[in-house]
Amino acid sequence: MAHDEPQAAGASKLVIRNIGLLLSGALEKPILDADTIVAENGRITAIGRAKDVDAEGATTIVDANGTTVAPGLIDSHVHPVAGDWTPRQNQIGWIDSFLHGGVTTMISAGEVHMPGRPRDVVGLKAMAIFAQRAFWTLRPGGVKVHAGAPVIETEMVEEDFKELAAAGVKLLGEVGLGGVKDGPTARKMVGWARKYGIQSTIHTGGPSIPGSGLIDKDVVLEADTDVIGHINGGHTALPDDQIRCICEGCKRGLELVHNGNERSALYTLRIAQEMGDLNRVILGTDSPAGSGVQPLGILRMVSLLSSLGEVPAEIAFCFATGNTARMRALDCGLIEVGRSADFVIMDRAQHSPGKTILESVQLGDLPGIGMTIIDGIVRTQRSRNTPPATKVPVIVGH
Ligand SMILES: [Zn+2]
Repeated sequence: MAHDEPQAAGASKLVIRNIGLLLSGALEKPILDADTIVAENGRITAIGRAKDVDAEGATTIVDANGTTVAPGLIDSHVHPVAGDWTPRQNQIGWIDSFLHGGVTTMISAGEVHMPGRPRDVVGLKAMAIFAQRAFWTLRPGGVKVHAGAPVIETEMVEEDFKELAAAGVKLLGEVGLGGVKDGPTARKMVGWARKYGIQSTIHTGGPSIPGSGLIDKDVVLEADTDVIGHINGGHTALPDDQIRCICEGCKRGLELVHNGNERSALYTLRIAQEMGDLNRVILGTDSPAGSGVQPLGILRMVSLLSSLGEVPAEIAFCFATGNTARMRALDCGLIEVGRSADFVIMDRAQHSPGKTILESVQLGDLPGIGMTIIDGIVRTQRSRNTPPATKVPVIVGH
């Protein structure tokens, strides 16, 4: 199998059987009553009990061995640059390492670490289109990196957004990382982006590195981006009263990142819970960053929010899967017929005091990953990065 092949060549039929626990990714029903999934040509075609689904003609059979299957995790906030290399910490293979942390899809919040990043309009548009194309062609380890997220500059006009959209750009990088740092200009451009189907996010909080600036609640609310990027700061969070104002002042996505302030993440989670708005909570790492890259960052956020935020683990997994998929209109992230066959297969880590995987996560432990699957193709088996899973799935037939 070509390492970076986007999808299977030819017809394929994957059957995952003997699933012990099936997490759906959907808040309204986070656990499904099923032990078998069938996926054909990279898409889920059946979910149910073994006796009720058609497993005939499988090209790959995975025996989950009683472990837990969940949708592949989505990192809503990364800063890729080129291939599987990041200049931020001069590291190679960081995306593949995230795959070993269960991440099968990543969303770029801007390719801002590109050495010599162009700030002029023609240059930034060219870079965004290049990044979108390059990451769709090359998928490190099979990971789907949605990149090509230009950072807006004051000289841009409506026509630029129309042109970007027509060229296949679907995301804006974090508003505030470029020249536009004021509410009115941001709002105007975010509106243009939205008009042409481009999603937007914003850098919330204090400067991340020397050279970036403060974006406070007034700018965030006025800009009205689709996602409130790292509402818990990246790294420096806004004061609690401002976080509350943002949560209550709009209905946009509330993104919690690993590279942010953990106390503020828990504070935001509590407000979202009070408001009955857990569907707005999505997770990212904001990697690579000053604090490095975190292959297990999304799992660590799930565990943090579940253990200290007192959210059932099966709900916390929705923040990293179905919530993000729905908010960002992705075809993965949920165990549903027709969705992309992207899965992470896990079990409780060896020697965790939790009796089940869910209990172990609620106690603050990370699960062990035994396999990842993207587009119906097994990409990795026992993770090299998580603690070892108690039980692992096995490929029993082709
Ligand atoms: Zn940021």
